Amino acid sequence: MKKHNFSAGPCILPETVLQKASEAVVNFNNDDLSLLEISHRSAPFVEVIEKVRALALEHLSLTDKGYKALFLQGGASSQFLMTAYNFLHKKAAYLNTGTWSSKAIKEAKLFGELEEVASSADKNFSYIPKNYTVSKDVDYFHCTSNNTIYGTQMKEFPEVEVPLICDMSSDIFSRQLDFSKFDLIYAGAQKNMGPAGATLVVIKEELLDKICREVPSMLNYKLHVERDSMFNTPPVFSVYVSMLTLEWLKDLGGINFIEGVNQKKAALLYKEIDRNPLFNGVVATEDRSIMNATFTLTNDQLKERFDSLWQEARINGLDGHRSVGGYRASMYNALPLYSVQALVDVMQELERKA
Ligand SMILES: *Cc1c(COP(=O)(O)O)cnc(C)c1O
Repeated sequence: MKKHNFSAGPCILPETVLQKASEAVVNFNNDDLSLLEISHRSAPFVEVIEKVRALALEHLSLTDKGYKALFLQGGASSQFLMTAYNFLHKKAAYLNTGTWSSKAIKEAKLFGELEEVASSADKNFSYIPKNYTVSKDVDYFHCTSNNTIYGTQMKEFPEVEVPLICDMSSDIFSRQLDFSKFDLIYAGAQKNMGPAGATLVVIKEELLDKICREVPSMLNYKLHVERDSMFNTPPVFSVYVSMLTLEWLKDLGGINFIEGVNQKKAALLYKEIDRNPLFNGVVATEDRSIMNATFTLTNDQLKERFDSLWQEARINGLDGHRSVGGYRASMYNALPLYSVQALVDVMQELERKA
């Protein structure tokens, strides 16, 4: 039986998806060739990439709304620089909510002036800043919807009069939002969609007119849109598995359905963190992420016992990020509710034995 996988990324994928993906590696489309050894320009693969691009827009309710979906390489980390390279003409505004935002800020500074509209660095990124203003004279506003490492999540997004760019790597397709508020969304596949290698970019076509300098081909959004996300060889396996995952999600009932499940999982775990005297939550309650829950032991001397209990229960990936410590339970779309129950059972067992 598969382990309970709370890994923060690369993360859990649906078992049916892994099954189909492994079959395609050996024999894709019943054509007696592997998905990995056929041309990315062959009809069967073109069908795959067209399908996943369409599915991404469909899930976000952005079909026929003037958006394009791309599957690019270089991870979400390349989007930190690509967004700025294409759109930072003079000055851009950034919200700093954690490690990933900070990295985005560092890269963007290479291309122009930056205004950090607010930051939660003062309290070790344990909350989401609110009540900041974004001025009208910036080229765009950039934020991170979910802070994978610290376990906070933006529940609301500011009304801005400039293009809104968002790193949704760790909560894309997990909850319903008005995605048409965003001009550019990016997300590394390996958090909630597929294996590492592909990065989803959803871009409003109007934004392409705002590319403000000469950009090398591989980093140019306009070129990738013109070439239907096939300017060069796409990461075929990651693209294919992403397609399978988005099909899986559609069969389940889409974002509306999975959001309900995700809320239930998060509620179950946070309730135990709040109830159990041996555990503490780490971040502001109203900003808690439904994807990544961070928590600590109230008594560090119980660490060895807790660690062996959850490992015996076949739980994987519970250690906090090396920069934060403590524990982090990542509850991405494919994690079943019973896995969260297994973790809660272990937390209660620790309480009984302590
Ligand atoms: C993991 C992560 C990244 C980095 O993704 P890579 O694909 O490894 O570059 C960026 N932003 C967020 C929010 C993440 O969770």
